[in-house]
Amino acid sequence: MNRPPSKPSESELLLGDTEHRSGVYNEVHEHSSTGSTQQETDCGELGRGSSDNRVNLIFQFLASHNPNPKSELVAKNEYTFCIAVLLSAQATDRAVNKATLDLFQIADSPESMLKLGLDELKKYIKTIGLYNSKASNIIALSEILISQFDSKIPRARDDLEKLPGIGRKSANVILNSLFGEDVIAVDTHVLRVSKRLGLTKSDNRLQVEQDLLKIIPKKFYKNASDWLVLHGRYICRANSPRCSECFLRNLCFVGGNAMI
Ligand code: SF4
Repeated sequence: MNRPPSKPSESELLLGDTEHRSGVYNEVHEHSSTGSTQQETDCGELGRGSSDNRVNLIFQFLASHNPNPKSELVAKNEYTFCIAVLLSAQATDRAVNKATLDLFQIADSPESMLKLGLDELKKYIKTIGLYNSKASNIIALSEILISQFDSKIPRARDDLEKLPGIGRKSANVILNSLFGEDVIAVDTHVLRVSKRLGLTKSDNRLQVEQDLLKIIPKKFYKNASDWLVLHGRYICRANSPRCSECFLRNLCFVGGNAMI
């Protein structure tokens, strides 16, 4: 696949690299829990600055903690990544990976998915929420890929968003993770973390996306979604954010003591 160096290779998609990313966040936790506030792992007093500087620092720290963030969805190729993204709507990556482990062994292309058929497909993904409609969408999507796109994943947003089960957020994930485009996908983690960090005030995902594109320096666009997703998954959790251990706490209005 043709992808930029900072994005996952096909083998990385296959491996998922979950342990590596979890390791990064465990490392943060260890630094924090031992009271270490090393400059490179903790924002310390750097939160006292202009608003632009604060946002820049937030992403500098996210970058320093995880220079090459990646989706935690496990896939074998572009097609299976697209299917995993479709399945991940209102489901955890962990649940999707568990279900697709066996599925992708026998169905890793539009043709092999059609050969598997709707009823058999449902058996593989029945542990995932909304599996009936997701299975129908996967079959319909596979038919369209074969008939209109030579069995390949289209690179144009309009084409992606016309595929069954692929909305704006999923299209952004595909454009960003597969094709390295500078877009920001707003899921529940990105929305929550962005609000807590004062990057947006909106609850509307499209508005949040537009706010983030305005406020985040362009050089961080490519990895912004993955950083915010991972920060939300491991540190800035929905019900129990780990603020005392968070390396962004002095840049955060909600859990820390950012002044501007
Ligand atoms: S300080 Fe707390 S609320 Fe703020 S980003 Fe960190 S974990 Fe989230």
